[in-house]
Amino acid sequence: MSGQREARLRAQAEARAQAALGHALTLAFWQALERCPMAPMAALEAAARAVGDLYRQAASLHGDDPHCACGWQPDPEDDLLRLEAMLAAALTETPAQTLAAMPAAGTA
Ligand SMILES: [Zn+2]
Repeated sequence: MSGQREARLRAQAEARAQAALGHALTLAFWQALERCPMAPMAALEAAARAVGDLYRQAASLHGDDPHCACGWQPDPEDDLLRLEAMLAAALTETPAQTLAAMPAAGTA
């Protein structure tokens, strides 16, 4: 297998895994709000805090004395910029993309 083909397949597999994780997190978010309704910004603040916690947990498994062999070196400043860029990009997606990605909640 050529290096380019291998890299493309790896990128496609990562994109599928990211989509599955995004779907699982979205589903968990809306299910939690259905069980315990709260103000939208309170819910989004909790979600953002959870992402920060997940970053800290993942970073703790890497760095100078890694417990994971994947090779990732956490860089909190650069990683925060990357996460902020993803958040900003998601905020400015067109409504059609956002609505299509939302799970159906309840019946109307
Ligand atoms: Zn790792």
